[in-house]
Amino acid sequence: MEKILIVEDEPDMVMGLKDNLEFEGYEVDIAMDGEEGLSRMLTLKYDLVLLDVMLPKLSGFDVCKKARKNKVPTPIIFLSAKGEELDKVIGLESGADDYITKPFSLRELSARIKAVIRRSTTQFSGNDADQVVIGKLKVDFNNYTAYEGSEPIKLSLKEHEILHHLWRNKNRTVSRDNLLDSVWGYDFQPTTRTIDNFILKLRQKIEENTDNPALILTVHGVGYKLVMG
Ligand code: CA
Repeated sequence: MEKILIVEDEPDMVMGLKDNLEFEGYEVDIAMDGEEGLSRMLTLKYDLVLLDVMLPKLSGFDVCKKARKNKVPTPIIFLSAKGEELDKVIGLESGADDYITKPFSLRELSARIKAVIRRSTTQFSGNDADQVVIGKLKVDFNNYTAYEGSEPIKLSLKEHEILHHLWRNKNRTVSRDNLLDSVWGYDFQPTTRTIDNFILKLRQKIEENTDNPALILTVHGVGYKLVMG
């Protein structure tokens, strides 16, 4: 049975969501403030977290950021009220998977939940998901190999990890901070300039034209986006 954590401080909302999700066959856990939500995410395993943005003690954004810094991979859907900064919610900075704006229909929420859980289970398992064609290269993220045609192309460990992270988030903007956290962890961090240099090297290996990249795009002031059809 898939297990969902609801982090929400409005009791009516909590009860409504809990009843409906249980009716749909999910196991449901509840946290009424940000700190409790984070501690549950760090200690228990969930298939999905529904995370309210405005919470007592710790905001939803902070819960999400801290969870990601601690390598919690659980997919997160933000529950946001109208007028909150949706650009942030989408996860440019915080690392969420989706968001839904209150008031929402339960049918819409249910569809989002299914989509996000499906996406995360295909991402974290299945071998075919680890072998992908990116531009000129065929990359095997499992075995750390890359080929252009039959020619092996050497990618460093970090180049592999950066490319893998961009690929997992393909067609979405990944901030430099998010790359730093995901690839280097938060104990040791190189400068953002280092990231730019790695990106340049990756472009030289996968792009047809390094001066005019079509795959790894720069999102000015934010980070990078791997564009794939
Ligand atoms: Ca709230």
